[in-house]
Amino acid sequence: MRLILTILGLIATVSAAIGGAVGALSTVFTGTSALQTGLIAAGVSLLALGLVNIPIVLLSQREMERLKRHVASSSEGFSEGAYRAPFWIRPVSEAFARAAGAWSDRIEGLQAKLRDVEIRHSVAEAERRSCEAILNSLRDAVLVTDPFNELALANEPAARLLGFDLTQAAHRPLDQIISDTSLRRLIDEVRQSSVVNKQKHVEHPLAANAGEPDDGGIFDITLTCLPDGHNGSGGVVTILRDVTREKEISQMKSDFVSQASHELRTPLSSINAYIEMLIDSEADSEETRQEFYAVIKHETDRVSRMIDNMLNISRIESGIVQTELVEVDFVKLGNEVVETLRPQAALKKITLHQKTGPLLYSAEADRDMMYQVLVNLIGNAVKYTPEGGRITLIVDNDETSRSVLVTVADTGLGIPPEAIENVFSKFYRIESYKRVAKGTGLGLNLVKHIVETVHHGQVGVESEVGMGSRFWFTIPYEFKCD
Ligand code: ADP
Repeated sequence: MRLILTILGLIATVSAAIGGAVGALSTVFTGTSALQTGLIAAGVSLLALGLVNIPIVLLSQREMERLKRHVASSSEGFSEGAYRAPFWIRPVSEAFARAAGAWSDRIEGLQAKLRDVEIRHSVAEAERRSCEAILNSLRDAVLVTDPFNELALANEPAARLLGFDLTQAAHRPLDQIISDTSLRRLIDEVRQSSVVNKQKHVEHPLAANAGEPDDGGIFDITLTCLPDGHNGSGGVVTILRDVTREKEISQMKSDFVSQASHELRTPLSSINAYIEMLIDSEADSEETRQEFYAVIKHETDRVSRMIDNMLNISRIESGIVQTELVEVDFVKLGNEVVETLRPQAALKKITLHQKTGPLLYSAEADRDMMYQVLVNLIGNAVKYTPEGGRITLIVDNDETSRSVLVTVADTGLGIPPEAIENVFSKFYRIESYKRVAKGTGLGLNLVKHIVETVHHGQVGVESEVGMGSRFWFTIPYEFKCD
């Protein structure tokens, strides 16, 4: 650059000298005034400067253009061939080359760093995705909050349970996501306690949110405070496990045990009383003794029936019942039960009928269980129908539910409306019918369990006091496993 400036300086000096010389000569030979001489000298100097400079400027422009093209082509990754700069522009081109080399080194370094960052990013992204997949595969709801009490991570069950949109919830404050104030307070307390990695367990009821009304219930909540790397609290992991069903089952079990012991006490104390009377020789005649033995036998049978029913119900409830599925012909089976109970019905002059169409009425079911269902329903009809009544067993197909439909209709006492919804409950007996017939209050509950829990069918009753009852159940043609 200094060289170019020197050349331009020389050119200017030579032009000025030429201008001066021409001015002086014109004064000598033409006798012009000093002002005219100065103007002539300046004009000639400018002309000389222009004549010399224009080619130099054009040449420089052409060289600069070549240099620019070379730099541009090199930076775009292709070269138009080797460029050799003329001597007067070489320092500029060499400076360019050095700067380009330094830039290319820096770019390579940055590219390597970028590749490294990209690899780290894709590893972190894969880890995040697998972490999300693990969280979403859990049935329990999981929430992770950060030190600022904002949501860092959550899974689908948590979004469903607490009613927030998973895609919009990240990094939002908890009070904008969770409406349950007690749960928010719990999370906040654990975060502020800063007792890192110590778990806190709480049992907490959660109301169902509007979108998922089935999701409310009792939850076992585990809260763990996370470390933040500076001996402080980094956030909280909250796991919510639905224990509603477990609670219900344990409540059911304890109700069952207390009801069962209450129900067993009555026949057992009756047996005990009659045995004591026999021991104390209070039965003085053989006839009275026989009467006592009959009562003891009857009560013992009742206890044994009750125990059988209780065991069957609890096996079904706890899911350990074994089923042997076969194609059951309900007309044949119904006939068998009707013939077994006919003598019992005949004692009360009750007539037993069976109504069926010409088709085949069969479904896949456990035959012994179906036998028990029919014995309980027809047996009840016999028990709660006064003398001279009529019982009809109807076997039909219900194409809508693709099931066999069995109905036991009687002309008996009927069931009062307020008792209808209770007759399938454990140990429920209509108070005023207790004198009519002995029972355990477990028969219909067992029927419901066998039909609905084991065979995925349905059971129901329609009844009118004084007119009789229609108990019905359906068994799907094909057994469907859970
Ligand atoms: P139980 O051993 O007392 O018969 P169930 O569970 O079979 O027990 O029936 C529960 C109660 O429902 C019976 O005690 C009775 O009060 C009423 N019930 C059942 N079947 C009939 C029926 N066909 N007609 C009138 N009442 C009935």
